[in-house]
Amino acid sequence: MGKVLVLNASYEPLNITSWRRAAVLLIKGKAERVEHNGRFLYAGFPLPTVIRLRHYVRVPYKEMPLTRRNLLHRDGHTCQYCGYTGDELTLDHVIPRSRGGGDTWENIVTACVRCNVRKGNRTPQEAHMLLRHLPRQPYSSLYFEVSKHLKSGLHQEWQKYVIGL
Ligand SMILES: [Zn+2]
Repeated sequence: MGKVLVLNASYEPLNITSWRRAAVLLIKGKAERVEHNGRFLYAGFPLPTVIRLRHYVRVPYKEMPLTRRNLLHRDGHTCQYCGYTGDELTLDHVIPRSRGGGDTWENIVTACVRCNVRKGNRTPQEAHMLLRHLPRQPYSSLYFEVSKHLKSGLHQEWQKYVIGL
């Protein structure tokens, strides 16, 4: 019995909820079942893995906090210069702080200790160390949550609903 992806009436992913909460929404007629995993709560009631609300809900945009944890997750716990994945990861200011680089999603990347030291107080161009991906602000915290589930091999059926998130 796992988590359930909730879609807005427009089919946009809205949040992740428990199967209990999802079952209540179905029973009350507030949502419809979009995907199920073949298991049953009781005869005739397949447990959903994706549901869709019958009425559109307006959601205010929630900005992702810029934290070490979120940055590492955005970068897949991978050094953005050399591709190293492991425990010894740091955060690097692409344009160094001392040269006016800010604390923003676009200017901080995950870097291994070696690359961070090697790059020092230089820009990637000066250090001849190019970034593997252009850093940018993640779309939403829901994207993070969903991608964690997908990475752990759970809920592959969610994939098609989150493309382009
Ligand atoms: Zn590295």
